[in-house]
Amino acid sequence: MQATEQTQSLQKTDEKYLWHAMRGANPSPSNLIITKAEGAWVTDIDGNRYLDGMSGLWCVNVGYGRKELARAAFEQLEEMPYFPLTQSHIPAIKLAEKLNEWLGDDYVIFFSNSGSEANETAFKIARQYHQQKGDHNRYKFISRYRAYHGNSMGALAATGQAQRKYKYEPLGQGFLHVAPPDTYRNPDDVHTLASAEEIDRVMTWELSQTVAGVIMEPIITGGGILMPPDGYMAKVKEICEKHGALLICDEVICGFGRTGKPFGFMNYGVKPDIITMAKGITSAYLPLSATAVRREIYEAYTGSEDYDRFRHVNTFGGNPAACALALKNLEIMENENLIERSRELGERLLRELADIKEHPNVGDVRGKGLLLGIELVEDKQTKEPAAIEKMNKVIGACKEKGLIIGKNGDTVAGYNNILQLSPPLSITEDDFTFIVKTLKESICQL
Ligand code: PMP
Repeated sequence: MQATEQTQSLQKTDEKYLWHAMRGANPSPSNLIITKAEGAWVTDIDGNRYLDGMSGLWCVNVGYGRKELARAAFEQLEEMPYFPLTQSHIPAIKLAEKLNEWLGDDYVIFFSNSGSEANETAFKIARQYHQQKGDHNRYKFISRYRAYHGNSMGALAATGQAQRKYKYEPLGQGFLHVAPPDTYRNPDDVHTLASAEEIDRVMTWELSQTVAGVIMEPIITGGGILMPPDGYMAKVKEICEKHGALLICDEVICGFGRTGKPFGFMNYGVKPDIITMAKGITSAYLPLSATAVRREIYEAYTGSEDYDRFRHVNTFGGNPAACALALKNLEIMENENLIERSRELGERLLRELADIKEHPNVGDVRGKGLLLGIELVEDKQTKEPAAIEKMNKVIGACKEKGLIIGKNGDTVAGYNNILQLSPPLSITEDDFTFIVKTLKESICQL
């Protein structure tokens, strides 16, 4: 549908006053102004509808338009809108208990508002944990190139995508990177687990006693849906234990059913020491994040001095309305079996997309649950990443047909060539059929 006068006027105001994520002052295509959303579908101001194949930013796990979520927040706001978690309130207590149920183990929860903050909190908890135990030299963190862990000075330091970082340096100190597992480009890793062994080597060479922990997503998401080889995560955990380092698992995207399990690490039979989560915890209806730590870590925070406590305050973290909404959100996922649905639809998606692997520009199709990556190449033999024009052509064709998909943005490393899909876990059969058909048709237009 054509833009009306009202739309054009709003777009002008938008261009004038709003600084959008990933944008500068150069003219760029007009932003979609979304006014309505229901299920997996969003509608713009001119009435055009799109299936949101990215769930916003990988976060609207139960889909849009859930009135019971709005009600849960509204009722809590009326009852008691805010009290800091230097003290306590019922929605936070209940949510911490519920998250333990989902985690299947004994974790203590610290609430914040965003994925970046959850990771910052994890780094501070880990560093102080070692200090509390009298291990005063452990401050380094190891993460993987191509991973994204957030926009703040520590979480960005952990991030392994140079193009997001270099204009803002110096960032938080003490972050080291190793190559990620990439079973498409480096298939030998499946047998050798060399990418995990590298972490062992780096810890040894850096001196174990200086290493605080490793941070990793179970599957690198934003950096290109990089599937670890079998045994990778278990190996990393073993290496961490050998060197006395903590394993921090960033579940900001992989959590809350995205990969077909409550949390991504549950696919790999590993228990992390610290787990960070955000996005799907409220399906993004309100900001909330959490850092879950093994009880033993929490219990190291004893001592009589003021500084033996965790000196970290988050004013908005664990807002009662956000916690009440999160509880309702988890209830919906349980009642509608959305985790199982994600697993099952993910398997079907891979099966139904298997034939597009025949296309000369499709190098790989991979994923777990409703998390999918399609790696486009110029040449299947050399695996040369597809040019950005090809990526944009597919994304544009999808959008024209009414499907929003994403791509990763690792331009410095040269891997800007992975199409991404991460729709709400609540998609209907019709939505599923539409996604498969649209993706196939759009890729075949290349
Ligand atoms: N970790 C991961 C894996 C993420 O994908 C993101 C955001 N996309 C973050 C952390 C940071 O979350 P936020 O944008 O809420 O700060």
